[in-house]
Amino acid sequence: MKLTLQTKILIGILIGNTLGAILFGSFFLNTLMAIAVPLTFFILKSFVRIKLNLQTEILLSMLLGVIFGSLAIHYRLVEFTAMFVKPYGAIFISLLKAIAVPLVFVSLVKGISSLSDMSRLSRLSIRTIILYMSTTVIAISFGLLLVNIVNPGNSFSEVKKQELRAKFAKEAEAKTEDAKKVNDRPPLQFLLDFIPDNMFKAAGDNSKMLQIIFIAIIFGIAMIMLPDKDVLAFKNFVDSLNEIILKVIDIIMLYAPIGVFALISSLLVEFGGNNLSDALDLFIALGSYSLTVIVGLMLMLFFIYPTLIFIFTKVKPGHYLKAVIPIQMVAFSTSSSAATLPVTMEHCEKSLGISKEVASFVLPIGATINMDGTGLYQSVSAVFIAQVFGYDLTMQQQLNIILTATLASIGTAGVPGAGIVMLVIVLNAIGIATEGIALIFAVERILDMFRTVVNVTGDAAVAVIVDSKDKENT
Ligand code: ASP
Repeated sequence: MKLTLQTKILIGILIGNTLGAILFGSFFLNTLMAIAVPLTFFILKSFVRIKLNLQTEILLSMLLGVIFGSLAIHYRLVEFTAMFVKPYGAIFISLLKAIAVPLVFVSLVKGISSLSDMSRLSRLSIRTIILYMSTTVIAISFGLLLVNIVNPGNSFSEVKKQELRAKFAKEAEAKTEDAKKVNDRPPLQFLLDFIPDNMFKAAGDNSKMLQIIFIAIIFGIAMIMLPDKDVLAFKNFVDSLNEIILKVIDIIMLYAPIGVFALISSLLVEFGGNNLSDALDLFIALGSYSLTVIVGLMLMLFFIYPTLIFIFTKVKPGHYLKAVIPIQMVAFSTSSSAATLPVTMEHCEKSLGISKEVASFVLPIGATINMDGTGLYQSVSAVFIAQVFGYDLTMQQQLNIILTATLASIGTAGVPGAGIVMLVIVLNAIGIATEGIALIFAVERILDMFRTVVNVTGDAAVAVIVDSKDKENT
């Protein structure tokens, strides 16, 4: 029988480890467990001969993640999952984050420096900011409308309320502390945050994405202002680096199925691992609240964005919805718009045909300031908590939610769990006890996954609109 090289390596690893386990015991068993996840994927890849596209592979991995997660809960493999599965998810997030800063810098410098005139840059900026603000206000208002129709907090039982407050008091306190740090900052701090005092420090910190954007824009503008011969060498360097970075992203995406599997399965195990019935109980108790958030998010995805695309561009909404699926899957599994950014940029250019100039300008800004899903979540959650506590919010307070949630969503970092910290600020602004976030903690992580999907989809929608207006003008 003729074996492929892959199969031979595989057999070698299996025989080696099995023999090792027999001869030397637990050390080899541990090694086997440690490589179980990539090994399984390797085996699957070697034996499944059907060629699948990356999107289908990621989708299947998510499914496998759910199946493995459920089995791990059933067979009490909580520790195994934490030790031997979860790290493979963290590796995926690290890889994406590692490439984000160079990607944003290089593609923005390349994009800006190829703009033929400066007025195009100011047109792009104005449109981008207006659209980002508008979609966020729409999302928040939509959330308010829904939560006022469904009223999920009014039927919430007193017993559950006490139970949740006691159970998540510590977490709520920690998040309130985090929010205090944000709230205590001087009013013009955001301006200072935008301007780096050290270029290299900014480049070394993923949370300083706005500073990277700032430096790249200045670099790009300087390049436009200089004569061609002075910048040619750097331009060629940037072009070539850009190609390399895009290839690196392709390579990282080859790992996506393993990363996504590990992220989904370990999350599931964390959610239900120690006491499944308890976790499900809480989930059901918060069912109508979670559903209100999820329905709102779905309406954004399948109604608001496609409608905006339909009105403002010639792109078919169906095509847009299909093209964003891979971006959404990565956002769902990582719960981080910042980590998803490389994938968002690549797919917006490749599948939606957005020009490099627009994609490299609009999307990194979006990943940092445009959080429609988070805004919607904050408005529904604030009113839900108010309802459970028996406050009757006035019109003025509801309008206040729109204002503060818009600002809070802009200030939310594109990382897991940032939205709930900013929710504390919204609650403060409308005078509701911030311990209230303890009520929604049980479903926070899951809602984070859904709202991140909307955050990145909203970025892509704005990029499509800005791009199509830009093409009309040039
Ligand atoms: N996880 C979200 C994001 O990265 C932010 C949030 O917590 O709402 O977009």
